[in-house]
Parts: sequence; structure tokens; C-alpha cells
Amino acid sequence: MPGMNEGPVSSSYTESRHVKLLVLGSGPAGLAAALYAARAELAPVVLTGTELGGQAALTFSIENYPGFPQGVGGAELGDLFQKQAERFGAQVEFDTAYSVDFSARPFKVVADSGKILTDALIIATGASPFHLNIPGEIEQTGKGVSYCATCDGWFFKDKKVIVVGGGDSALEEGLFLTRYASSVTIFHRRDSLRAGAVLQKRALEHPKLKFVWNTVLTEIIGNEKVEAVKTKNVQTGEESLFPTDGVFIFIGHTPNTSMFEGQVEMENGYIKVDDHMNTNVPGVYAAGEAADSHFRQVITSAGMGAAAAIEATHFLERQAG
Ligand code: NAP
Repeated sequence: MPGMNEGPVSSSYTESRHVKLLVLGSGPAGLAAALYAARAELAPVVLTGTELGGQAALTFSIENYPGFPQGVGGAELGDLFQKQAERFGAQVEFDTAYSVDFSARPFKVVADSGKILTDALIIATGASPFHLNIPGEIEQTGKGVSYCATCDGWFFKDKKVIVVGGGDSALEEGLFLTRYASSVTIFHRRDSLRAGAVLQKRALEHPKLKFVWNTVLTEIIGNEKVEAVKTKNVQTGEESLFPTDGVFIFIGHTPNTSMFEGQVEMENGYIKVDDHMNTNVPGVYAAGEAADSHFRQVITSAGMGAAAAIEATHFLERQAG
């Protein structure tokens, strides 16, 4: 196997397989990185993580990714990304990394399938949804509490659901839920929305969408399934009980980076990168929502992934002399 510039390799890793470039994550950042690295003939290996296609694959319709004037399904776009990367030799493996050691090259990664040594690595592990952390939320997850309308909306045909949040995700997913649910009520903690203007207009004008402003959830009530939520008006303090069959929570995300603590520099949980996607460890790059708390779009994540792969290619060329 290619063993350029090998640093100390601990004996427990001597049986490991060795790759040139490992990509952790299969969202837009990871698969765009894989495409660029594959075309640079690095034969990148992508560990998908538990969510093939990342968060984008859970989005019903992506309308702002260029090249798809009618929009494209998130899962379909992920599938196209994957096929394109594989066409040039990327190896996409349904596998999850759970520890890394960047103290010496080759870098060491332990995944479900075993140990992997890699000469360069791109972190594209994305982000996961925030929880409300209120009583009943964990207990009712899968029994009416959901973080994915595309996955679970179908179960709420002709039922009443609520959505929590005021950002793009809440409105987009709320609009999607109107296909199934008899009513969709959006609870937002303020009286103005964070979402973009186009989505706001569409949501505010939709006959099936209702808004409850300045209101937070304090408890989710149910036994075998969700029956109601307790709410509180943050301005008046008034508490109410609101009957519902489902609670969809879209209040933002947290980066999936705990595995990298102590290995690369981070800021507020996000991997710190410069404008070339370099982390503070030469040969380790980060792209997408693991490193971006600001843009968080499919196109910006894909762009970061491409940039990281270009930089990794140059790094490996320099190492090879
Ligand atoms: P977001 O923009 O961070 O919005 C989160 C929303 O949840 C905010 O309205 C926030 O209220 C509310 N919130 C946060 N914590 C809360 C809590 N504990 N209780 C109640 N409400 C809470 O998250 P997002 O909507 O998931 O979007 C993330 C990023 O992805 C954004 O950059 C967004 O533009 C992008 N995105 C884009 C699209 C698209 O372009 N089609 C689709 C989805 C997402 P406040 O407003 O009061 O802070």
C-alpha cells in the first residue's frame, strides 16, 4: 500500500489497511470531496457514517442547488453525488468511524469495520438536530416526536401536527407536512421568522399552516403516542395545553465533532479551518457543517468539500516529493 512519509505506526495498527485519503461523512461535503479526490486518482475511501447522504438526504426538495430548475429530492441528489464520485473510483463504504489519532502520520482511524491508516483525511461529519430538552421529548421520540418530516410525515396522514422553530428548516418541513397532515401549527419563540423571504411568504400564505408566536413548548404529553404539548407564552407567561398527534422539532443543529476533541482545534464545537479548509493538523481538512456554522447550504458544503480535496491532493503530492 502507498506508505508515503509514514510516521510511527503503533503495533496494534500494523494489520490495518492503508489508504491515501479517507473521507469521513457522506453528505454534500464528503461526496464532493470524494469526487474531486477520485478525479485526482487518490482512490478515496468514504465512510458514510450512520446517515448516508447526510442531512441533505432527509430534505424533501432542494430548490436552491444550481442545475436543477425544478428542484431535486435530497436523497436523489445524494445518490447522484455518490454515483458521480464512484464513477471516478471513490469507494463509498457503509461504515462509521468512532475514534481518530492525528498525533502522527499516517493518521489512525478506528471504524466499525476495523482500523484504517490514512495519509490524509477530510472531516465531513456534518451536524445533527438540536433537541428541546423538555420532559417527554426523549420518551415520545418515534411515538410522535420527530426531527425529520421527510422520514415520518407519511405517518401523520389526516392528523394534527405541530412544528417548532422559525428558521428555513421549520418552514420548509412544515410546508412539506401540509401534504399529509390535516393541520400544521408552527410554534415560534419570537414574533418574527428567521427563515428566508421566499419561504416565509409561501408559509404565511399557506391555508393549512397556522402560526403561534412568542410561544415555547414546556412538555410533550402522551403514553403510547403523543397526545398534547404544554406551551408557555414567553411574553405573558400564560400556559396552555395544545392537543396534537405529532411534534416536529427544527430548531437548529450541532456539529458531529466530539470524536475530534483534543485532535484538532475547534471553536464552539466546530472544527477550525482556514480559507483552504486546513485544520491545525497538516494533512487533515474539514468541510461542510462540521466546520461551518454560518452558511450551512448544500452548495457551500459541497464547495468546501471540493476545496478540501484539492488541498489534500496538493498535500499528498508534496509528501510524495
Ligand atoms: P436555524 O436557522 O438556526 O433556525 C432555528 C430556529 O429554531 C430559529 O427560528 C430559532 O429561534 C429556533 N430555536 C432555536 N432554539 C430553540 C429552542 N430551544 N426553542 C424554540 N425555538 C428554538 O436552523 P435551521 O432552520 O435548521 O437552518 C439551519 C441552516 O440551514 C440555516 O443557515 C438555513 O438557512 C439552512 N437551511 C436552508 C434551507 C434552504 O435554503 N432551503 C433549508 C433548511 C435549512 P430564533 O429565530 O429566535 O433564534
